[in-house]
Amino acid sequence: MSIEVELPDGSILEVDENATVEDVAYEIGTGLGDDTVAGKINGELVAKEEKISDGDEIEIVTDQSDEYVEVLRHSTAHVFAQALKRIYGDEVRLTIGPWTDEGFYYDIDGVDLDEDDFEEIEEEMQEIIEEDLDIEREKLSREEAEDFFEDNEYKREILEEEASEGDTVSFYKQGGFKDLCKGPHVESTGEVGGFKLLEIAGAYWRGDEEKEMLTRVYGTAFPTQSELEEFLEKKKEAEKRDHRKIGKEMDLFSIPEHSPGCVHVHPNGMKIRRELEDFIRDKNERLGYTEVRTPELNKADLWKKTGHYEAFKEEGEMFAWEQNEEEYGLKPMNCANHSHIFKSQERSYRDLPIRLSEFGNVYRNEQSGELSGLMRVRGMTQDDGHAYIRDDQIQEEVERTLDIIAEMYDEFDFDITFKLETKPGKAQGPDNLWENAEESLEDALKEKDAEYEINEGEGAFYGPKIGVMVEDAIGREWQLGTVQLDFVIPRNYGLTYTGKDNEEHHPVMIHRAILGSLERFMGVMIEHFEGDFPTWLAPEQVRILPVTDENVDYAEKVKDELNDFRVEIEDRSWTVGKKIQAAHDDNLPYMLILGDDEEEAGEISVRDREENEDRGFSVEEFREALREEVEEKRIEPDFLQ
Ligand SMILES: [Zn+2]
Ligand SMILES: [Zn+2]
Repeated sequence: MSIEVELPDGSILEVDENATVEDVAYEIGTGLGDDTVAGKINGELVAKEEKISDGDEIEIVTDQSDEYVEVLRHSTAHVFAQALKRIYGDEVRLTIGPWTDEGFYYDIDGVDLDEDDFEEIEEEMQEIIEEDLDIEREKLSREEAEDFFEDNEYKREILEEEASEGDTVSFYKQGGFKDLCKGPHVESTGEVGGFKLLEIAGAYWRGDEEKEMLTRVYGTAFPTQSELEEFLEKKKEAEKRDHRKIGKEMDLFSIPEHSPGCVHVHPNGMKIRRELEDFIRDKNERLGYTEVRTPELNKADLWKKTGHYEAFKEEGEMFAWEQNEEEYGLKPMNCANHSHIFKSQERSYRDLPIRLSEFGNVYRNEQSGELSGLMRVRGMTQDDGHAYIRDDQIQEEVERTLDIIAEMYDEFDFDITFKLETKPGKAQGPDNLWENAEESLEDALKEKDAEYEINEGEGAFYGPKIGVMVEDAIGREWQLGTVQLDFVIPRNYGLTYTGKDNEEHHPVMIHRAILGSLERFMGVMIEHFEGDFPTWLAPEQVRILPVTDENVDYAEKVKDELNDFRVEIEDRSWTVGKKIQAAHDDNLPYMLILGDDEEEAGEISVRDREENEDRGFSVEEFREALREEVEEKRIEPDFLQ
């Protein structure tokens, strides 16, 4: 008997019904068969020994594939585990050790590790790599496996759950070390070219706060030492720019334990945020949006009508609870409430587009382990907007929105690309509407000559999305803004307008956000500028440094003349040198240094954060230049350049 599988180029290959991934590779060519490290079955990375089924989509992974590094990292996790066993013996109990985007981690129990132990463990790992041990897959019977893990209740639990199928289970063996594992792995420990243990954290078994607290060790690995070094360099740069660190230093925001994933914006952060809001209000006005305000708290019935309930509640992503015998929730999106406003009046074809915008506070129940500063939160403010339009207005509306988005990111000096995200598993609505929607978005991208990638299956439940991908100063990509097309919610929620033909029609809905969430945008922006905000955004734009206490009155006078800007006087009795240092530490775009000479001449000396300094300016010329710099939203303070 033979079965058919599909290859990445869309071709169909006929193979024996007992074939493995490796057999498929040999079927394609002997060279490929010999080079096979692992495979992908329907997108899932698997061992080359994995059996395939009729209709599977198969990809072959060699050491030239993007996935190779993931395989290598998982093998490095095994090297780590083997080193621990060599050092600590049976005391250490291994649990799970998967690869991650940046490396791998291993959760262990039984020994108390701290980062001081890394050196010894790394030396042992290096030893294992130099021994160049073959990594071999072997099958054990269920009884053998259970005996093997007699003293390890975690592995026995895995045997009962994830690995409960089949009479045998797969292990991987390297030298004297053996572990339950479905793979894949590289061929020998010697393939690890560069690795490093990075940090230690606590992690609950199964991510469940009721269960045991384990020790999680993070590490990373690469095929070569130079790739490792490049990674570590980038990581160091990223740590220096970490928005959580800068946010604290500049007193911008906090995320205290009493509100996990929910941001407290401090006065300095709020100054930046208000500038961003004004900026977006201006863009929205140009796009024809009018601002609304809708409640966070709603009855769950609302989302049952729009379809959000099915998409969010059932995946546990929505905060919802019962009270007074009613189910309530916090809105996970603003679409339902805006649609209520659309529905509150009779609408005719002449009224469309109707465009509603809101700085909407939404809540999503992200898992606590997923939360990360401003980048991944539970409570966020979207610069959200919904346009209700006719079929014939789609193209123009999407293109206009993309134009404004591109213009806005350009003003921040960000490079952007787009992702077209298509129909997901939880999609609602008929196929033909999805096809139309995907086509319309793609047409708009083509019309703009935009650079875009297609992300299959990543769309929203109601329609495909264009995601705006932003590259920051050190080359990392973030998804921020979005434009989405929706034929589903207007039908679910019964939105209609009267057409020219006097019949009732469903409008098309465009969901869009320019910045995305203000929280994430702030996080990305803080790291992009490393706290050196453009003057128009800086919480404090100018700091006046009187040379002695005698000059404070003059400083007050100069401050009054600059009252359109955010100006403070440094009145601590410090030396000028110390005052300048403090202003640099606070990332001040401009400092005005005022001593007796300046006071007598009625002038100012100006210093900027690039350490340019010059004297003999009038307050008026500085003020006018500053006004222009702020109005034009220039990225760098350029008065002295
Ligand atoms: Zn493994
Ligand atoms: Zn929406």
